[in-house]
Amino acid sequence: MKPINRRDVGKLIGSAGMASASPLLGTLSAFAQGGAPNVSAGAKPRVVIVGGGAGGGTLAHILKRSSPEIDVTLVERQAQYTTCFLSNLYIGGFRSLQSLTHDYRGLTSIGIRVVHDSAKDVDAKSRELRLESGQKLAYDRLVISPGIDFKFGAIPGYTEAAETVMPHAYRGGAQTKLLMDQLQAMPDGGTVVLAAPDNPYRCPPGPYERACMIAHFIKTRKPKSKLVIFDPKKSISKQKLFMSAFKEQYAGIVDFHLSTDIDSFALKSVDPKSMEIETVSGMRIKAAVANIIPPQRAGQFAHAAGCADGDWCPIVPETFASRKLPNIYVIGDAAIAGDMPKSAFSANSQAKSVSNDIEAALAGKPKYPSRYRNTCWSMLGPANSVKIGASYAPKDGKVSALSTFVSEGDEDAKTREKSYKESIGWYAGIVAEIFNKRVDNI
Ligand SMILES: Cc1cc2nc3c(=O)[nH]c(=O)nc-3n(C[C@H](O)[C@H](O)[C@H](O)COP(=O)(O)OP(=O)(O)OC[C@H]3O[C@@H](n4cnc5c(N)ncnc54)[C@H](O)[C@@H]3O)c2cc1C
Repeated sequence: MKPINRRDVGKLIGSAGMASASPLLGTLSAFAQGGAPNVSAGAKPRVVIVGGGAGGGTLAHILKRSSPEIDVTLVERQAQYTTCFLSNLYIGGFRSLQSLTHDYRGLTSIGIRVVHDSAKDVDAKSRELRLESGQKLAYDRLVISPGIDFKFGAIPGYTEAAETVMPHAYRGGAQTKLLMDQLQAMPDGGTVVLAAPDNPYRCPPGPYERACMIAHFIKTRKPKSKLVIFDPKKSISKQKLFMSAFKEQYAGIVDFHLSTDIDSFALKSVDPKSMEIETVSGMRIKAAVANIIPPQRAGQFAHAAGCADGDWCPIVPETFASRKLPNIYVIGDAAIAGDMPKSAFSANSQAKSVSNDIEAALAGKPKYPSRYRNTCWSMLGPANSVKIGASYAPKDGKVSALSTFVSEGDEDAKTREKSYKESIGWYAGIVAEIFNKRVDNI
C-alpha cells in the first residue's frame, strides 16, 4: 500500500473537518491535559493506546504516520478484529465474515508496537498502564478506546452465559457467526425475536438494519418464518425509512413493537432454556432464534482505569480528554460524546482530532479547532441503502450537532444504490485508516 505522507495526513484531518487558518497553538491542549508533557530531553514522547478498534486503530495509524518521532504502542487483546460495521450484511448474505476480519500487520509494518494483552488498570500519577501479563507501560499520553461491555443481568435471565444461546451479535466475530448459524439451522416457520436496547447504545440504527437483513434472509431462505421486534424506546433512528421498509419490502414478515405511553415492550425477562421472552406489557413469545441486545456501558477497562462516571466516560468536548484523569483521552463508544452517536465513523473522526491534540502537546505542532463528523448508512435490501449524518463542534460544554442530514423517504432506486455503493467505499476507507490495509471495494 502507498505510504501516507504529511500532506495526506493533513487531508485526513481536513476530512474530519478540522482544518483552520488559525492554529490555537496548543492552548486547548494544555487546558485539557493540565500541563506540559513529562518528556525527558532527548527521549521520544510515548503514546500508549488501549483498544485496536475503530478509534484506537485509527489513532495509532495516523499519529505514527504524521509524527514518526512519537513512540506509539497499541494494546489490543485480540490478534484479529472482526468489524461490527457491515456485519449485518453478513446476516443478509451480502458479505463474508472473512471480508470483515483484519489483523494488525499493517500497523506493525510502520513501526507501531502492537502488544496483544489485556489492559488491567492505570496509575495516572506515575503515568503507567498495567497489563494482565504483569507488564507495565509508561506513557506521556494514554488514549483509551475499549468500546463497550454489556450490562448482563439488567434483563432478568440474560446472564453472560445466555449470550451463547441468545446471541446479541453486538461484538464482531463469534457472536455474529453464532446468530447466523442459528438462523441457518432454524426450521422454516420459526419465530425470530430481536430485542433492541434503550439509549444510549452502540450504533443507534444497528438493530433496525439487522432487522432488515434478518427479514431479507427470511424472505429469501425461510419464507414461512417471522421476525418480531421488541423495543423499549418510543422512537428510533431513521424511523420513517425503516418503517416503510418493514411495511413495503417485508410485509407479513416483520412485526415491530415500539413502546408507547400505554405499552412497554422493554423485556421483563428471558429464559434461555425454554427460549421464552416476556415483555413488560405482558406479551410472551417462544423464539426459535432470539437476538437479544442488552443495555451497554463503556468497556470494562474504562471503569478499571477510573475514567467512567456511571456507565460512560465524561470528556472535554474540545479534545476528548478525560474529565476524570489527567493525560488520558477517551474516544469511541466509551466516551460521552454529546450529540455524536456511538459509531465507527464517530470514533474515527474523534481519533483524528485527538491525534492533532497530542501532536500539539508532544511534538510542538499547531492545534486546530476540533470539528467532528458522522455518517451511518443502513442497508434495507439489495443495493438499497439509506443514510443519516451530521457535523459537530464543541458548543455549550458538549459536542453539539451543527448540521444534520437524512435520506428522503421517496428516493428512487438509483439514489438508494448510490448510497449503498458509498457505504461500501466508506468501509474500504475506514479499514485502510484503522489497519493500514487495502480491502477490495466489494
Ligand atoms: C451490528 C452493528 C453494526 C454497526 N454498523 C456500523 C456502521 O455501519 N457504521 C459505523 O460507523 N458504526 C457501526 N457500528 C458501530 C461500531 O462498530 C462501533 O461504534 C465502533 O466499533 C466503536 O469503536 P471503538 O474504538 O469505540 O470500539 P471497538 O471498535 O469495539 O474497539 C475496541 C477494542 O478494544 C479492545 N479492548 C477492549 N478492552 C481491552 C483491554 N482491556 N485491553 C486490550 N484491548 C481491549 C477490544 O478487543 C476491541 O478490539 C455497528 C455496530 C454494530 C454492533
